[in-house]
Amino acid sequence: MKRKLKRKFYFSFFIISMTLLLSGFKVYQQQLQIVKNNSIAFESQKEKSVDILEQPLIVIDPGHGGIDSGSENEGILEKDINLEISLKLKQALLDKGYRVLMTRSDDTALELRERSDFANEAEADLFISLHQNCYSQDTSVSGIEVYYNDDKTTNDERFAQLIQQALVDSTGARDRGIREQDSLVVTRETTMPAVLVETAFISNPQELSLITSSSYQNEVIDGIISGIEQFLNQ
Ligand SMILES: [Zn+2]
Repeated sequence: MKRKLKRKFYFSFFIISMTLLLSGFKVYQQQLQIVKNNSIAFESQKEKSVDILEQPLIVIDPGHGGIDSGSENEGILEKDINLEISLKLKQALLDKGYRVLMTRSDDTALELRERSDFANEAEADLFISLHQNCYSQDTSVSGIEVYYNDDKTTNDERFAQLIQQALVDSTGARDRGIREQDSLVVTRETTMPAVLVETAFISNPQELSLITSSSYQNEVIDGIISGIEQFLNQ
């Protein structure tokens, strides 16, 4: 009789222990799944925010502004063309996921140092100053040129080459080549790769009409973006 009770007790104990063990394991598994799901959610959230911050920051600098009109032809002011193209370039870069800042977004006058300081303080990855050329002595002169400074350690010459080539390819404009110039404040004082792009001669009637048309402006923008992407992906 005693032995039978003992056996019954052991059997019940075994069943109870197994039940507890199994339910414990189930709870553990559920907990593990919750932790796993949370960490997946956290990881994907982390990845997303890191991705946004890791997008290159590009500063666009529309040349001139305010009382400084830049060059002029047929009542059209360089500062206005620069701003118009810059705003379109900004939107195209934003659409591609880049971070973009502008030194000016309206008809404001800015010192050259303010432009380079702005890009340095923002810790921009790339700097692009947009200008139009002018040579009234000979209105047949045309084409694109890109200026850079070669005293820097940021490979600005390569950046200039890629922007120049991509611009010439996309617009078909005359290739006037890249030009080293150490007197330009914005390309010299910026601490990141920087170029100053002269996209057209507004003294040339054909180029003036091209650069004020949205189709040609889009070719210019495509060229600049292609140059930027080649430089970033090299
Ligand atoms: Zn200019």
